[in-house]
Amino acid sequence: MLESNKQRLRLRVTGVVQGVGFRPFVYNLAQRHQLAGFVGNDSEGVFIEVESGAVRLQAFCVDLERLAPPLAHIEKVISTVMTPQGAETFTIVESKTNLEGITLISPDLCICDDCLQELLDPSNRRYRYPFINCTNCGPRFTITRQIPYDRPNTTMADFPLCDACTTEYHDPSNRRFHAQPNACADCGPQARFVANGVAISGDKALLAAQSALRAGTILAVKGLGGFHLACDATNYEAINRLRKRKGRLTKPFALMVYDLTEARRYAIIDDEAKLLTSRERPIVLLRKRDGISLATNIAPHNPYIGIMLPYTPLHYLLLHKLGYPLIMTSGNYSGEPMVTDNEAALQQLAPLVDAFLLHNRDIHVPCDDTVLRVVQAQEYPIRRSRGYAPFPVKLPFDMPPILAVGGELKNTFCLTRDNYAFISQHIGDMENIETLIAFEKAFQHMKALFRVEPQLIACDMHPNYLTSRWAHEYSQKQDLPLIKIQHHHAHIASVMAEHGLDVEQQVIGVCFDGTGYGTDKAIWGGEIFVADYQQFERVAHLKYVPLAGGDASVQKPYRMALTQLWAADMNWDVDLPCVGGCPEQEQVILHHQLTNNFNTVPTSSMGRLFDAVAALIGVRQIISYEAQAAIELESMATLVHETPYRFTYDEGKIDPKSMIQAIIKDMRAGIPVTIISGRFHLAVANMILQVALEIRSATCLNIVALSGGVFQNLLLLHQSKALLFANDFDVLIHRCVPANDGGIAIGQASIAYHK
Ligand code: ZN
Ligand code: ZN
Ligand code: FE
Repeated sequence: MLESNKQRLRLRVTGVVQGVGFRPFVYNLAQRHQLAGFVGNDSEGVFIEVESGAVRLQAFCVDLERLAPPLAHIEKVISTVMTPQGAETFTIVESKTNLEGITLISPDLCICDDCLQELLDPSNRRYRYPFINCTNCGPRFTITRQIPYDRPNTTMADFPLCDACTTEYHDPSNRRFHAQPNACADCGPQARFVANGVAISGDKALLAAQSALRAGTILAVKGLGGFHLACDATNYEAINRLRKRKGRLTKPFALMVYDLTEARRYAIIDDEAKLLTSRERPIVLLRKRDGISLATNIAPHNPYIGIMLPYTPLHYLLLHKLGYPLIMTSGNYSGEPMVTDNEAALQQLAPLVDAFLLHNRDIHVPCDDTVLRVVQAQEYPIRRSRGYAPFPVKLPFDMPPILAVGGELKNTFCLTRDNYAFISQHIGDMENIETLIAFEKAFQHMKALFRVEPQLIACDMHPNYLTSRWAHEYSQKQDLPLIKIQHHHAHIASVMAEHGLDVEQQVIGVCFDGTGYGTDKAIWGGEIFVADYQQFERVAHLKYVPLAGGDASVQKPYRMALTQLWAADMNWDVDLPCVGGCPEQEQVILHHQLTNNFNTVPTSSMGRLFDAVAALIGVRQIISYEAQAAIELESMATLVHETPYRFTYDEGKIDPKSMIQAIIKDMRAGIPVTIISGRFHLAVANMILQVALEIRSATCLNIVALSGGVFQNLLLLHQSKALLFANDFDVLIHRCVPANDGGIAIGQASIAYHK
């Protein structure tokens, strides 16, 4: 009898290995190495059994990791030796559902180059088909109802494959082999244009949508993770109409631009090119070029412009030969979640738009666009969502299942399992019941996808956050412990966690923020801590001033300016812009509030100090979107290194009094506001350095972590970093999650675990 040296191996591959063409890749690799066996998906990832001679098996194992598809992200390959079974062929087997383990779901991916080429090739059978995709591209997370990621578990289940698509799906040499959302015009989803009660389907729908846009129409466009409102970015009047209807008066709109060449016409693009063209296709905030041919009301008073390139075939067709970029803003009313289904769009968005471009592939998971900036050639997230969620952030420690509900504004939540932090897509501002419902839905979905049953809940200390109240109720209902986390501690822990700091490490945590509930019930936000995951010591903070009338003082920066003048023992002279900006009656009431501590809360907020300075020097008295005054203050700053202002720092109190006095003196001496703004930014950076140096000499700590919404100010970020580097500090800034409240959930989870 012939002796055989055959061996059989069982391989378990984990990571992002579903929805990225992994099984077809394994199939082809097995053919090439002449192996028998099978490959399949289950809820833990991909399982493979291969049988052949030892040399071939080993070569296969090496290639498996070396040649993996571009979108795959292998975490681990575990192999077990088995008894050979005399297998002769290699097959792709049915997916299995099992209850242990975990599979990472791929985020949604932009159309790949091959599909784009086919889309625009008149001889291709998918010419101008707006839902073309392959194993390397297309929708993933937003169509996934449950795992494993197979067509019947996605919203593509409603579209049986035609013969031609079936053949591709089963042909291992085809690039659509086992592409779950595979479709064509004969069997797949269709676009539909609706205006004035008339509906047009198929390719004519796209052409009708383009003509509508040319005529100045505001169009609701169903995309990948939800609806956008779109209009011609060169049409001032249309944009104005959109602003009025949406109730979004000055907040910048993002643009969708056909390609990188065109984007360069509107913005200065260096290192940003890589991110703009990445498969995640985020909105990238870029410096506007002067004298561009776009409407001036896209991003008024703002030197930056948010640009993204098209990411779905439908977007490409919409912009193809259109001749100008489109405004693309989330399809919702300000403050409400994005609309995702056709019926809701036709009802709720009707007052906002003139026409609809719909399609019949359901969006199972709403997912807003991601927004990034580029800091020293690397990404600096502002909003982490489409293209990133639900890809986890890796933690430096193994965690039990924890749910951290995040904050109130720009909410995201986080579920942990093993050493993964699954951070949700952007949920929104938790100010109404609609957003809370969206939160609950996203939570239930992620909990099921990743099979996480939380054993511990973490929330913000603020008693009135909707998320905190929800967490309280949920923990009672489920009989789970609830841990309340101080807001700025969570910010610092989040930047520590994403950089993989371990339990032993302590940092100098600089958290500059708009608002956060302090342990003394004051509103914090200008905080410098010595912190680890377990605890923090509040070493220094901005000196308290009274915040009079809560939200009124946030919306009207002149009130904070008057408050700072009052705290600096200065008169409210009428020559000052902030005094002129405040109605006399209001001045009387405000003065009464400040002197009698009536309806005031003490605050150390750095965000409010930026507001105050913006109003003091006449940049902005009333805001219409969050952080508007600070953004405008930053945008006008010119750095001159002579005579920066100084905070006084004494016994942990950072006092802006002498700086406020110096600013007024400069104002009256006719120093340009651009220079005053520059001196102010430098003063804040210098103060960070001064406090950090004092802490270092007392504690020997050398890592400074920068977090909080104020660090979306790149001028401050760069200055602070430069000064700290020059003094040999190690500096941590955010790279995975935002510095704003969209990033705190991972910090909450890390703290909760270590408590
Ligand atoms: Zn493709
Ligand atoms: Zn088909
Ligand atoms: Fe915050």
